[in-house]
Amino acid sequence: QNDEIAELSRSFSEMRENLLASQEQIRQLAYYDFLTGLPNRVMFQDFLSRTMARAKRHNEMLALMFVDLDDFKRINDTLGHKVGDELLKNTAQRLTIATRSADYVFRDFSGREPDMIARLGGDEFTILLTYIKDSSDPATTARRILEDVSRPIILSGHELCIGLSIGIALFPDDGENADELIKNADIAMYHAKELGKNNYQYFSPSMNAASLERLTLESELRRAVDKQEFILHYQPQVDAVSLAVVGLEALIRWRHPLRGVIPPDAFIPVAEESGLIVPIGEWVLRQAARQLKTWQQQGRRLVPVSINLSSPQFRHVKIDKLIAGVLEEEKIDPHYLKVELTESILLGAGNEVVRMLRAIKKTGVQICLDDFGTGFSSLNYLKRFPIDVLKIDRSFVMNIANDTKDAEISAAIIALGKCLNLSIVAEGVEEKEQYDFLRDKGCDAIQGFYFHRPLPPEQVAEFL
Ligand code: C2E
Ligand code: CA
Ligand code: CA
Repeated sequence: QNDEIAELSRSFSEMRENLLASQEQIRQLAYYDFLTGLPNRVMFQDFLSRTMARAKRHNEMLALMFVDLDDFKRINDTLGHKVGDELLKNTAQRLTIATRSADYVFRDFSGREPDMIARLGGDEFTILLTYIKDSSDPATTARRILEDVSRPIILSGHELCIGLSIGIALFPDDGENADELIKNADIAMYHAKELGKNNYQYFSPSMNAASLERLTLESELRRAVDKQEFILHYQPQVDAVSLAVVGLEALIRWRHPLRGVIPPDAFIPVAEESGLIVPIGEWVLRQAARQLKTWQQQGRRLVPVSINLSSPQFRHVKIDKLIAGVLEEEKIDPHYLKVELTESILLGAGNEVVRMLRAIKKTGVQICLDDFGTGFSSLNYLKRFPIDVLKIDRSFVMNIANDTKDAEISAAIIALGKCLNLSIVAEGVEEKEQYDFLRDKGCDAIQGFYFHRPLPPEQVAEFL
């Protein structure tokens, strides 16, 4: 009997141990980030609220740093999630070391509450500096972090140089509660990014308006993708001699339920940065193909439609497959579709981009180099990449009549294109003098307000 009791008691104590272990596991899961082992958002917010309450009682200052990796998405997209995860782990370690060493050198803790470093999610980290004597202290720590973390590292055989953008919000000045302080540090971080990355910014109330706008824009854009609030307008391109419409450029507009029609320059940059351009670009492609189909069914004369591609779409490995798939679905001859891309896509492009462009060409779709003359305008691009059409940027065309240099550059681009057997389109032609000049120099097609503005599809149909 004694044995039975002993056995039972052993079982109970085993159960108790298991229970404690799983409680500890649950605590780990609930409060710590799985990948980096740092405290997670829940734990950080809780710690922040408590620390703020205490700081208020003792009239102490706190600083919250919002840290975001520059171009993390690009690394994740190009080198894969494994390298991305490694980079996050490595960054967590380096942030911890850099913050500690800054503390050690610049600040005196003498037994107070320690700093906390947490991962909020994705590539976002927060650091709470708990014992601040002077509002310039966090800047010293931020500089230290930027210096340490931006040193190159080698991950899976790739040498990576990662930049950070840091936003700093101070307690009590910049926020009364945890949410507000985090939000304002985030806003300051966006400003740091806009100022050219790998730097830090203190929050100031004037940042609020602009950044709030950007944050709202992004979430509204996300909704617009779901609700399909976009429309395409089409700007005709005319043959420089016969003036017949020989092509159309599809240009996106956002029909916002409250703010009316928003032009692409106001939202494409945000779409590119947030990755939303990938679904938006896919919609543009599909919509353009459907439109061609509609015109075809109406018995219109079809002309090629160009769509604009952004670099994030290009990194989307299957863009050629996507194009081929959509053309197949809508039963559209590939001659009727062209893609426009800018030099930034080709910039520093490795063989991957060359392969991708060749794959696009294989589908039978032509490739236009957009805004030519504004980037590096490398002759090497024209030689290396399978380009069919060169679009002279509006900034040259604009000054043809009153700036001889711009006129000469436009003429030279036309001559160069002819030598390389490319078709030349001039953009942004608004005046007769510009048109006359370009036609005389042998430019093939003209796109500009002088002939046609971008138009809704019903109106374009009249030209077809
Ligand atoms: P872009 O590709 O250079 O397109 C030409 C822009 O010049 C269009 O502006 C067009 O309306 C404007 N334009 C044409 N002729 C004239 C002219 O004679 N005078 C003046 N002042 N402007 C002229 P829009 O439609 O506002 O588009 C702006 C930019 O937004 C485009 O520049 C393109 O980079 C981007 N974009 C538009 N649609 C898309 C899209 O579907 N996907 C992507 N990724 N980008 C797009
Ligand atoms: Ca374009
Ligand atoms: Ca252009």
